[in-house]
Amino acid sequence: MTGADLRGRATCANEHSEAERRGSMRVTIDMDKCSGHARCYGTDPELFQIDDIGYASRPEFEVPAGGEDTAREAAAACPERAITVR
Ligand code: SF4
Repeated sequence: MTGADLRGRATCANEHSEAERRGSMRVTIDMDKCSGHARCYGTDPELFQIDDIGYASRPEFEVPAGGEDTAREAAAACPERAITVR
């Protein structure tokens, strides 16, 4: 492993720690599972964006403070279980 690799790992570790300190939540959408029901969009159209035919168009994003319950609600509403929040 090179020094550059190690520096990259340190940066990732620092970013992860910073995210944990902020208590931030991330949404990940498995685009292979997404079937275009648009229920996530129906839960919160600003947080969950879709394309013209109803498929999620933003596969990964950070949830703004205060949007955590809505993100969990959208994940529960997705019939394909394509949404992961953590
Ligand atoms: S509810 Fe699930 S399947 Fe439907 S658009 Fe959203 S992520 Fe895709």
